[in-house]
Amino acid sequence: MAIILLDTKTINRIAAGEVIERPASVVKELVENAIDAGSSQIEIEIESGGRNLITVIDDGNGIEKEDLELAFMRHATSKLGDRELIEIKHLGFRGEALPSIAAVSRMKLSSKASGAEEAWSIRYEGGEKIGELMPCSLSQGTHIEVRDLFFATPNRLKFLKSERAETQAIVDIINNLAMINYRIGFTVNSGNKKLIKYAKQESLFSRICEIEKEFQENALKIEEEEDGVRLTGHICKPTVNRGKSDMIYTFVNGRPIKDNVLIGAIRYAYHDLIPSDRYPFAVLHLEIPYDQVDVNIHPNKSEVRFQNKRLIYEIVRRGLIKTLSKRIGSPAASDVDELGMTEKIVRSAAFDTREGNNELINNIKNREEKNRKEFYERRPSSVENRLIKEFAAPNIGEKGLSEGPGLFEMQKLASQKETMAKEERQVSLIESHPLGFARCQVYNTYIIAETLDKLVVVDQHAAHERLVYECLKQKSSIKRQELLFPEIVEIKNQAGMEMVEIYKDKLFEMGFEIEIKAENKVIVKGIPAILGPIDVKEMLTNIVDRLTEIEDTLPIEDKVNKILAIIACYGSIRAGRKMNLEEMNELLRQMEETPNSGQCNHGRPTYIEMKLSDIEKLFERR
Ligand code: ADP
Ligand code: MG
Repeated sequence: MAIILLDTKTINRIAAGEVIERPASVVKELVENAIDAGSSQIEIEIESGGRNLITVIDDGNGIEKEDLELAFMRHATSKLGDRELIEIKHLGFRGEALPSIAAVSRMKLSSKASGAEEAWSIRYEGGEKIGELMPCSLSQGTHIEVRDLFFATPNRLKFLKSERAETQAIVDIINNLAMINYRIGFTVNSGNKKLIKYAKQESLFSRICEIEKEFQENALKIEEEEDGVRLTGHICKPTVNRGKSDMIYTFVNGRPIKDNVLIGAIRYAYHDLIPSDRYPFAVLHLEIPYDQVDVNIHPNKSEVRFQNKRLIYEIVRRGLIKTLSKRIGSPAASDVDELGMTEKIVRSAAFDTREGNNELINNIKNREEKNRKEFYERRPSSVENRLIKEFAAPNIGEKGLSEGPGLFEMQKLASQKETMAKEERQVSLIESHPLGFARCQVYNTYIIAETLDKLVVVDQHAAHERLVYECLKQKSSIKRQELLFPEIVEIKNQAGMEMVEIYKDKLFEMGFEIEIKAENKVIVKGIPAILGPIDVKEMLTNIVDRLTEIEDTLPIEDKVNKILAIIACYGSIRAGRKMNLEEMNELLRQMEETPNSGQCNHGRPTYIEMKLSDIEKLFERR
């Protein structure tokens, strides 16, 4: 067959195959154009998942009459200036969307350029212009209708999913674009159903809360910077997680993108805090100098290439870990109201010089950094010994307060003086500690504590498990305890024995002394001291089972952490054990000192809070 040059119509249809995959791609391209045009309100309407009709109306700067036809030519764009492909600041730059959409649908574009007297419209069907430019009535911006998508390339229609799935894809695209373009108002209607209505917002955080309510009460602020790369955004506490990754939004220079480096860094930061099959909530924006990132590597511009992947990974990982390991009650540990504590302090010192403010922030940051360092560097003696001493002995709490007299009776029993001293101590605990003073234990499982303005309920097992785990993580410092009577443990299968052989040395570092005795038997001579009296057989079997389960690809560090988590679970105060007031308060103080203690190793919360003001509301006192 002879070689021929393809005509424009065919070229456009082929190109459309790349850019326009499904109705959501049309919506994405048109809305990006509307954003690039400086719009403040964008309205989208669809019918049957965008297959029959997509309308996008904006109030942007419009298109001049003489540019209308040009806009539909391939590689025609108003967005690439002198700096060409180096500084790509607009969402669009390829000049492909309008001709591609026009090639596979029936399309009408009406527009009024800002400053122009009249609005004009132009029509295309299957890539061919229909009729001449027509004057039309439009007060501002651009109005685009795309009907009968893919009528000209019916093969594509077969690949479309159900109406519901296509509609959802459109909603997802809009959520992504709306998130980062929070100053713009968005609506999406399908038939007569309102799917989205986002008001114009002043801050990213307000938009995040519009899209996902979970952030309202659970957000933590992210800020990190290095070498001109700036990371900002908000994540949720680990207790808020989901089976899908759809609550992870990542943006690079204002552009929604999907990238494995970013997802990897985010998941790494949370790997200790939520189960491996769950995903966190995160909205992150990376601002990278334009010459260090290539946005022109994907036809629909949803992927980018970073010049320095390592740096990007590090910034994201570090930024998140820093925030996630902040202590309970520490200034910026939560930013529910966008104005984090740190900022509040700065605002109230508004008459300070700028440098003064920075110094203040730096002081707070340094203090947190120092606290965190101290925790990890501390000799095992302090926290570890306290954990062993206070909680490892079975049921010290028997004679505890929870069983004995209540606070009220105690006052009657104790001498006047003692009571007063105690009260003083309580008041100071209530005032100076974020988790307050433990009042009692209920159901032998939960600790009820009081702070100045909150009621705190702690899950004793979950909380202690986290403390033991964090303590164990200072690997070098795990103390071993020789067993008086070494235990012989039978390992059922070959794979299990292999695991013992492979991990024997690692387990030794973690406090276990294990010898292989026969083909299917091992002797356990020592266990981590922190554990106290436990069922050695059951725990070792559990560890071996888990090791056989874990897929080989998991990095060694993750495997070790998994084992530590099992140990922590065994070593922790069980639910159902009585505790006395002293023990309870000791646990609260340790929680305040330990990073990550807001949730247990399984991502469940270790404590919940109820604001006094909310309680008052319930009783209609407010
Ligand atoms: P690109 O966005 O890559 O420049 P498009 O094919 O999407 O290419 O659009 C071509 C041109 O049409 C744009 O560069 C812009 O000048 C103009 N344009 C498209 N949509 C709009 C709109 N909603 N408002 C103003 N101008 C628009
Ligand atoms: Mg475009």
